[in-house]
Amino acid sequence: MSDPVRQTLAAPSPLRPGPVEEAALDEAHARLAARCGDRVSRDLVLAPLTTFRLGGPASLFLRAESVDDLVALAATLAAVPLPLLIVGRGSNLLVADAGWPGVALHLGQRFRGVQVEGDELQAGAATPLPSVASRSAAAELGGLAFAVAIPGSVGGGVRMNAGAHGSELSDRLLWAEVVALGGDGGGSGGLESEAGAQGAGGHEGPSGSPPVNGGSGGLESEAATQGAGGHAGPSGSPPVDFGEPRRLAPGELGFGYRRSALRPDAVVTAARFGLEPAGEAEVRAEIDEARRWRRDHQPVNQPNCGSVFANPREMAAGRVVELLGMKGERVGGARVSEIHANFIVAADGARSADVLELIRRAVRRADEQLGITLRTEVQLVGDFDDGAAA
Ligand SMILES: Cc1cc2nc3c(=O)[nH]c(=O)nc-3n(C[C@H](O)[C@H](O)[C@H](O)COP(=O)(O)OP(=O)(O)OC[C@H]3O[C@@H](n4cnc5c(N)ncnc54)[C@H](O)[C@@H]3O)c2cc1C
Repeated sequence: MSDPVRQTLAAPSPLRPGPVEEAALDEAHARLAARCGDRVSRDLVLAPLTTFRLGGPASLFLRAESVDDLVALAATLAAVPLPLLIVGRGSNLLVADAGWPGVALHLGQRFRGVQVEGDELQAGAATPLPSVASRSAAAELGGLAFAVAIPGSVGGGVRMNAGAHGSELSDRLLWAEVVALGGDGGGSGGLESEAGAQGAGGHEGPSGSPPVNGGSGGLESEAATQGAGGHAGPSGSPPVDFGEPRRLAPGELGFGYRRSALRPDAVVTAARFGLEPAGEAEVRAEIDEARRWRRDHQPVNQPNCGSVFANPREMAAGRVVELLGMKGERVGGARVSEIHANFIVAADGARSADVLELIRRAVRRADEQLGITLRTEVQLVGDFDDGAAA
């Protein structure tokens, strides 16, 4: 019988690529630095860019401040294929202590901002979701108050179809502007193995809308219509105009529960939402209520990544971990939260390996003691040396 820990943690994923040659990194660094200057760096530690405050360095890092920077990255990846990681606000990532062996992209300040026109709100992809919720209240628009308690960015939120309290971003999305970058991890298999196809997710929200099949409704089929002018997509996918912003409607994004069919190399740069008129006090009351709910039910003051596991079919993932008696269980500086068993919190000095060991224990015990398969909702990024310890 297959090992559930291996199934969960060692599934092939573009987020856990193999080692990358120094020479390739040097060449990519030189090419990118020629066009993006000091927005490019080597060996930048990712921990401060995640809500867990954990994780090692990205071998190459770009803080993009314009679509031109994204075009430069697409050109670099066409010349030097490297694994690509997009880091939003890092609120759904567990980055390995060993870090990320390829290039990590983070959208900078210029991708932040909100504009309101009538009942529509447009936000840059780096805008924090809580800011979007606040702006919607100030603009007397209802429909996005739920986003106040989701500590991600608009871009990460669109990719993950973030949601809470019975609503999700795809309910309100009019379009997302997306740029495909190419690179080593742009195949259609992508993030879906990790975050998708799992039934109901672990975060608060509507339970269990069926997973949507990736690829055909997403950027890949969209790109397939473009013909000449692009270059061959990774993993034999059709030609794509890398570096070209395209506006995609929700129907083209293949949304499912806490997932989209966006290719791993597709960067969301902006999104527009359709809202409805509402009194400011009414929206603010909804925001306050969502915040209060979080404070009462989640360990808001300790570094964490939100729900660690997606909800299995049988029951809430937090209930599974609680039944295993793991509340308060520690490994190194990581501990299963006493407040919510589907949260792991990290104290000073914690390592990603500590968190992973707690994840392994929960997965193994859930299988052995309850016959339940737990899968991670948090995305595991980089080399966790799965083979050795599983
Ligand atoms: C305390 C806490 C509570 C949470 N509660 C909820 C909740 O209620 N509901 C919920 O849905 N989630 C929740 N989350 C999880 C998380 O906030 C969401 O998944 C969020 O959408 C992630 O956004 P991010 O910007 O942090 O993305 P990251 O964690 O940085 O990345 C997540 C994924 O999105 C990709 N990505 C990031 N930015 C972009 C971009 N611009 N373009 C394309 N891809 C991108 C990354 O490559 C990665 O695959 C919670 C997390 C925490 C820490």
